[in-house]
Amino acid sequence: MSAYTKLLDHINALTIIDTHEHLVPADERPWGLDVLAEWLQHYFSCDLISAGMSESELQAVRDPQRSITERWRIAAPYWHAAESTGYGRSLALAARDLYGIAAINAGTIERLNEAFKAAHTQPGHARVVLREKSKVALIIRDTMPVPYRETDDLLVYNMHTENFTSPAHYSQMRALGAEVGVEIHTLNDWMDAVRRQMEKYLNGQTRVVCLKCSLAYHRSLRFDKVTYADAERAFNEFFADCNLPDWRPPRKAAKALSDWMMHFTCRVADDHKLVYQIHTGLQEGNGNVIYDSNPTLLTNLFLEYRNARFDLFHMGYPYVMEVGNLAKNFRNVFIDMCWGHIVSPEAARRALVEWLDAVPANKISAFGGDYCFVDGIYGHQLLARQNVAAALAQKVSDGSLSPARAEEIATWVFIDNPKQLFGLARFLDAAPASPAPR
Ligand SMILES: [Zn+2]
Repeated sequence: MSAYTKLLDHINALTIIDTHEHLVPADERPWGLDVLAEWLQHYFSCDLISAGMSESELQAVRDPQRSITERWRIAAPYWHAAESTGYGRSLALAARDLYGIAAINAGTIERLNEAFKAAHTQPGHARVVLREKSKVALIIRDTMPVPYRETDDLLVYNMHTENFTSPAHYSQMRALGAEVGVEIHTLNDWMDAVRRQMEKYLNGQTRVVCLKCSLAYHRSLRFDKVTYADAERAFNEFFADCNLPDWRPPRKAAKALSDWMMHFTCRVADDHKLVYQIHTGLQEGNGNVIYDSNPTLLTNLFLEYRNARFDLFHMGYPYVMEVGNLAKNFRNVFIDMCWGHIVSPEAARRALVEWLDAVPANKISAFGGDYCFVDGIYGHQLLARQNVAAALAQKVSDGSLSPARAEEIATWVFIDNPKQLFGLARFLDAAPASPAPR
């Protein structure tokens, strides 16, 4: 038996931790019960656009009111062009293993849609795909439900901080303040409200296990050290017209306020030794500013907030080596491969081979599906298991790891590392929690 097959057997037997998903509950599926509408919500739809599909064609292909054969005719040339990408392969694996469709084409698309509909109308289908087929023990869902409720023993949550650092509207700030008993009039009030919000949920008593920053979609990840006076001026400008009704168009919080508040959330994270998940690298959607998301821009935060722990998302792709450098350098920086195995399976394998030479093996979490639908998670976890097996097999073949050590590292990156980093033992080792009342 080859080193790869042996490692893959070991990895396939693991019930793993999933550090990042956007799962939408099946009963809330706003796009309808249709395989193309669901599978083209994100990721592969971007590859289709990249391959030349127009926005209006994408809308037509996603429209469950139109016949599936007509929609396939529109999609087919772009689908064929893109099906070899990680996104395409992840869906092909789902079609094969969940619906028995060996190849997605004009001859099978109708059957695929029927099988999809039949499966997804079965009660508990999502749980079967996640728990039994994907062998996932626990998922960090992005983001915690608002209003907060605990409904599913498979899910824990992160808490987004964009509303704290870059609020879109003062009415939102007032509402957040009111939730924790603070009237917002000054920057101090706002900082007080933000601290209370963070401490209310991230206190070890709820299923919220970490913070999340996705500001790389909107601005540079360089958070400058600004003066209180500059931040206060920006706050006052933002809040100056606070007597206007809520329907007035949102304003963008100035950079000084956003910089100040990001440092403030890191300060609270530092006080409580919290984990901060940070989006770095590739942004979803077509047309983005990649250099805003370079993880090295966060260096000043890593240096200043040494008790906080920073979990860098998406392998930082394409800043894969930069992420390795940061995790090697900083005790408080960790690598999260979520989304990575489908962005580029080869990049994920190469990155892992390289990181294992440079970075201690307890710093890497191997899997987060990053999908809003379960079929994608199934395909992604399969690719992730294959990629990690391939990377570790290479290390065994070149003599840098023993087979036993390679198996140990596989267990670490899929289970022990995320369990340790996010403090998940209390959810995994306890009896299943009964859902709290809504
Ligand atoms: Zn995500």
